Amino acid sequence: MTIQHMVDLHTHSTFSDGTLTPTELVTLAKAQNLSAIALTDHDTIDGIKEALLAGKEINDMLVIPGIELAALYEPYENKEIHIIGLFIDHTSSALLNQLKQIQHSRYERNLKMIDKLTSLGISISLEELEAVAGGEIITRTHYANLMKQKGYISTINEAFLRYLSPGLPGYAEREFLTPKLCIEAITQAGGIAILAHPTLYDISFKQMELLCLNLMEYGLTGLETMYSSYNNTQEKRMKEIAARLGLLSSGGSDFHGANKPHVSLGIGKGNLRVPYDYVEAMMDKKGKC
Ligand code: AMP
Ligand code: MN
Ligand code: MN
Ligand code: MN
Repeated sequence: MTIQHMVDLHTHSTFSDGTLTPTELVTLAKAQNLSAIALTDHDTIDGIKEALLAGKEINDMLVIPGIELAALYEPYENKEIHIIGLFIDHTSSALLNQLKQIQHSRYERNLKMIDKLTSLGISISLEELEAVAGGEIITRTHYANLMKQKGYISTINEAFLRYLSPGLPGYAEREFLTPKLCIEAITQAGGIAILAHPTLYDISFKQMELLCLNLMEYGLTGLETMYSSYNNTQEKRMKEIAARLGLLSSGGSDFHGANKPHVSLGIGKGNLRVPYDYVEAMMDKKGKC
């Protein structure tokens, strides 16, 4: 019997809104018997060096440098979509410059959100947020954690339901890159650009396919066909879209440690099994470029 090697190509560390350090993440991947793990922090590649070092210490563990970027998709009412980059050069100065711009847009958004929340009677400061985040990237997860710590809400979900989601009084939008710029930033850094979790965008399967087709014009080469929250039908439809359009398949849990306690590394909500074949197909494709 051959052993099926499993991987997780969508994870977050303390460098964005996960709760495990890159070293802890790679160590856990080994404990879960994974053969490869991609670190795909939001808007930063600063954790990759540590993840690669940790990977070197462990036999038979491939650590793939990655990133997750966000963009607004104008044809669909400016919905926020996410693009994952895998096999990126984490020393690319073009990518680092682009990320600096994104990080600045987060800084500006933080000032606006802090003002909004303060006017709602929720007193939180940038310094407190920085302390909770522990790194450069402050996301709404960190707001929710801090609001809970300070007793303004009793669950993380409540923070998103009452304050932090688009359209609610505590939410401020940041400036986003366009989808084209996200994909180009990844591609120019030698990476493979993948559309993440389209089932979360509240669009039909047909619209997902059209979205892929549109993004392929800018260099999209993959689709997340396996993901923690997909049901069987969704996974099947994602695989059909990828096959029809000639997109590579990717898959991952979107692990955030204790910040998403219902999602486990490698297995997601329990049933996720992303095969190593996905990684091989990506490496083949890269080899041909
Ligand atoms: P941001 O990138 O700052 O807009 O923050 C988005 C992050 O917040 C995502 O990456 C998720 O980890 C988290 N998030 C978004 N919506 C929710 C929600 N409804 N419940 C819990 N976490 C959420
Ligand atoms: Mn997140
Ligand atoms: Mn995402
Ligand atoms: Mn993610």
